[in-house]
Amino acid sequence: MELLEERYKLAKLLGHKNFAETNMIGTMVSAPANVVKFTDTLSAAIKAPVVKEKAILLAQKQKLTPDAKQVHRWDASYLSNIIREQDYSLDAKEVRQYFDYDKVRDGIVALSESMFDITIKPSKVATWHSSVEAYEVYEHNKLIGSFFLDSHPRDGKFTHAAQFGMQMGKKGQTLPKAALVMNFPKGLMEHSQVETFLHEYGHLLHFIFAGQNDIGYSRFQGESDFNEAPSMMLEEWVWDYDTLKDFATNAKGEVIPKALVEKMNKARYFGQALGVATQLTYTALSFDLYNRDPAGIDLDAFEKDIFERYSPYGYVEGTHMHASFGHLDGYGAKYYTYQWSNSIAEELLSRFKQEGLLNKKTAKDYRQLVLAKTGTKPAAELVKDFLGRDFSVDAYAKKLSNGG
Ligand SMILES: [Zn+2]
Repeated sequence: MELLEERYKLAKLLGHKNFAETNMIGTMVSAPANVVKFTDTLSAAIKAPVVKEKAILLAQKQKLTPDAKQVHRWDASYLSNIIREQDYSLDAKEVRQYFDYDKVRDGIVALSESMFDITIKPSKVATWHSSVEAYEVYEHNKLIGSFFLDSHPRDGKFTHAAQFGMQMGKKGQTLPKAALVMNFPKGLMEHSQVETFLHEYGHLLHFIFAGQNDIGYSRFQGESDFNEAPSMMLEEWVWDYDTLKDFATNAKGEVIPKALVEKMNKARYFGQALGVATQLTYTALSFDLYNRDPAGIDLDAFEKDIFERYSPYGYVEGTHMHASFGHLDGYGAKYYTYQWSNSIAEELLSRFKQEGLLNKKTAKDYRQLVLAKTGTKPAAELVKDFLGRDFSVDAYAKKLSNGG
């Protein structure tokens, strides 16, 4: 409550209507009204797919518990896994054998070399732990940056996966230096971990390519609701057989079968609408709490109302998510960023899908027009320069309404 009140006071001091308005300064959406428009568009797009996916989960639950009347939040991922195995005959164990950490790492490095015409060499520089791997990035024999991969868990280490800028790149002065701090097994990885690896590696490439101009690039120079888009786009490559066949091999050296990648892609979008509905629930909670004067808000009643309107599983009596929702602090009103970035990623991807994911000319344009220019002009213009047209959220909304 105190956080809401103090931020509201700050907004008033600055002459704004509320903190949501203050919080939207320097974003792509630029004003609260555009967040409402955006989330309304997505809510409409997922309406029918949510009903469909919920019915499938309920039918599965009734096979296990014949008198079940509804699916709860805590049932969803368990039931989804059963459905992926039964209906899509996708076995996570079968997939895992093709993703050995060393091969995945080398495959991701090689992918970036061939897409962006760079050379990456292991480096002998000192690191903070014996398991940390150091690399240097060259373009036509010229050093343009360096990075570290701290990929495996150990006691006392950060437990998530993230990219950290260690030194900002500034033309003629400093070279960009970054680290990926992740927690992957040393041997076989889940496919979702390979996706996370490439996502974080996407932030790293962005940091290095944007760090060649004279503004001194950090992720804070771009609009906060744009920065996830390039990495979200790059996730697509781990679903592409032509990319995977170059590094996804098992212990016998056999390449991942094309049919298996096709099965993975078929199962990929099951549960997408339910996932987006949950994201929109959090988006509404984050946005609506700040898009008003907080005086007199009953937080529990407020949260209950949001969950009943947006969540596919409704509100669970006695829960107080606002008390543990860390994004209400760091992201403030801007939880919408995740879905917004997804919608931009879909647009950026549209040109790659047309011209080929491994098309070097497309990748070169993307690097030069979007990644290298981040922070030098509005992100909407970067996207327009690359697409040759204004971007729109319609492609993402259409994908959601089609169930993927
Ligand atoms: Zn990210």
